[in-house]
Amino acid sequence: MSDCIFCKIVDGSIPSTKVYEDDKILAFKDLNPQAPVHTLIVPKQHICCADQITADNCEIVGYIFSKIPEIAKSLGLENGYRIVNNCGEDGCQSVKHLHFHLLGGKKLAENMA
Ligand code: 5GP
Ligand code: ZN
Repeated sequence: MSDCIFCKIVDGSIPSTKVYEDDKILAFKDLNPQAPVHTLIVPKQHICCADQITADNCEIVGYIFSKIPEIAKSLGLENGYRIVNNCGEDGCQSVKHLHFHLLGGKKLAENMA
């Protein structure tokens, strides 16, 4: 997707502070952190949002979650963390490339909505 910010971060044309990378996924620091640790984890393939996950492309979601413990550990989140996905208009998704927020480094607010 040529006009997608996160595709550009994946291909390196927009710089990011990388936290983890392999052939399928990239994790990088959020530009506007909402917690002491705020990392975004994205599939390298462009999937618009959680609502576009299908039986054909869902494998990458499981893969991302299989890597979260390792990424969290590397960020020092031994005490726990929060994974957030915003989807669509009501979910306040601002970047239309599937991503999971990994938040932690303090006791987070209980109210999610
Ligand atoms: P959303 O609101 O779509 O769930 O989250 C998008 C996130 O991407 C926001 O937390 C925002 O700060 C972050 N973001 C937007 N543009 C950039 C960018 O160019 N670089 C980085 N590192 N983060 C970005
Ligand atoms: Zn994209």
